[in-house]
Amino acid sequence: MSVVIWWIRRIIRLDDNPVLKAALERGLPVLPVYIFDPDLFKVDMRRTDFLLRAVRGLDEELHAIGSALLTMYASIEDVFNLLSAQLNIVQIVTEQEVTLLGKTYEKKLVSIAPLKTIQAVTVYNPDQVRKPDGSPYRKYTAYRNTWIKLDLPDEVSYQLSGKFLPNTPAITMPFPSFPPVKGVIDSFSSKNAQNILDSFLSGAIKDYENLRNRIDLDDTSHCSHLFRFGLLSPRKTVKCVQNLLLENNNPKECSGYQTWLNELIWREFFNHLMDSYKSSEERFANKDGSNVQWRESRSELNAWQDGMTGYPLIDAAMRQLRQTGWMPNRARMVVASFLVKDLFLWWHHGERWFMKHLADGDPAANHGNWQWAAGIGTDAAPFFRIFNPITQSKKYDPQANYIRSWLPELAKVKTVSIHEPWKMDIQEQIHTHCRIGKAYPAPLVMHETARIRALELFRKRDRGRRDD
Ligand SMILES: Cc1cc2nc3c(=O)[nH]c(=O)nc-3n(C[C@H](O)[C@H](O)[C@H](O)COP(=O)(O)OP(=O)(O)OC[C@H]3O[C@@H](n4cnc5c(N)ncnc54)[C@H](O)[C@@H]3O)c2cc1C
Repeated sequence: MSVVIWWIRRIIRLDDNPVLKAALERGLPVLPVYIFDPDLFKVDMRRTDFLLRAVRGLDEELHAIGSALLTMYASIEDVFNLLSAQLNIVQIVTEQEVTLLGKTYEKKLVSIAPLKTIQAVTVYNPDQVRKPDGSPYRKYTAYRNTWIKLDLPDEVSYQLSGKFLPNTPAITMPFPSFPPVKGVIDSFSSKNAQNILDSFLSGAIKDYENLRNRIDLDDTSHCSHLFRFGLLSPRKTVKCVQNLLLENNNPKECSGYQTWLNELIWREFFNHLMDSYKSSEERFANKDGSNVQWRESRSELNAWQDGMTGYPLIDAAMRQLRQTGWMPNRARMVVASFLVKDLFLWWHHGERWFMKHLADGDPAANHGNWQWAAGIGTDAAPFFRIFNPITQSKKYDPQANYIRSWLPELAKVKTVSIHEPWKMDIQEQIHTHCRIGKAYPAPLVMHETARIRALELFRKRDRGRRDD
């Protein structure tokens, strides 16, 4: 039997999907396939839970139209070799990847069947947004200014029923259909994702500009994992925001829509950078990125990872990450600054920890944001911009509701003391059941001293450069 394989890697949805459209266009039965390759698939990663739910959700949607998703736990090559022994694979259609790893897998399949890759992770193909001389952008603002002038592509539409291989295909596979995970996996579909987005677009987005940094209010969209796994179409989302801007005259609400749109463009920008500059070093602002003499301290890294630094905002955020796979953007910026500037530890340690624990862990966004935080990316925070974890805490969690919800040992500490609990006298520590150094750690470093050390180490790098 001749088929086209829709190989799903990042975009787990049926509607407005250019990859699926390309697969359907051949006019042959389409076999949807998701492969959990043991080399790539790590059961202990937080985003795995959500990935499994999303795959289950797509399978249910396909069942509703008489088909099914073929899911396999085996190497990508083994699955395609077996499929090609039983079917005439006319074409494999999949998403275009920006990571080197993703591209490596594409090369491996070329000998098995013709492979077609379609850009669908971002609104525009990374090479569509270019400088007038055709070269890729390195700065967000210039990239954004070109991005917003482009015509938004139309929604892709197609007929679904009767186009897929029926759900009892004559395929025998010796591999398990799901990776070895414990417990029942409940499903999450793109319709669930759309409901989350719709509720944000009809409510909190209006005050997004004012509230997005308030760690305690948690009023952002919570859509990052939905974009990460393609349950939401970035194109359709941008269209919705553009319509809101057209229909509305209220300046406060419009600035909410505009600011949120800018965040979506940051996502596009980091994908553009990863696609255009293949190595991490090419994404440094200059060669200084490799010259920083980062400190090494396993115990300090562990304290940061475990939420035991003695700075309540940092510790609350790191514990939230570990327990839920989520952390608000403002908290991500503050904990990243603390790791790379206050502790002066290598930013890759933080990048890897985030990738392991974030439900929305995305190579392009994560890498780009860590380079930004470390002050070495193409469009990074300057090295002298060092977040003060105490003032950030007072400003963005003023009543310490966020801190208290993640640090039970500080539950009884008064708001006036909680952002710097080490300043409590012994009576207050006893009274609030929070002995510093026992119930809750003393600060790992004093911010002011650490800030001066970071500035000195960065200047040493610059002096080294002048001596070259
Ligand atoms: C050190 C660090 C690491 C990060 N790692 C990731 C990551 O692995 N995956 C990820 O999706 N985001 C990452 N971000 C960006 C940002 O923190 C999250 O996208 C955001 O907090 C998700 O919450 P939300 O969906 O409510 O976002 P909203 O504020 O509602 O924003 C809407 C969408 O815009 C995109 N977006 C927002 N901010 C950024 C940004 N700075 N960079 C890129 N895209 C953005 C996301 O897709 C997000 O869902 C990181 C930020 C930092 C500082």
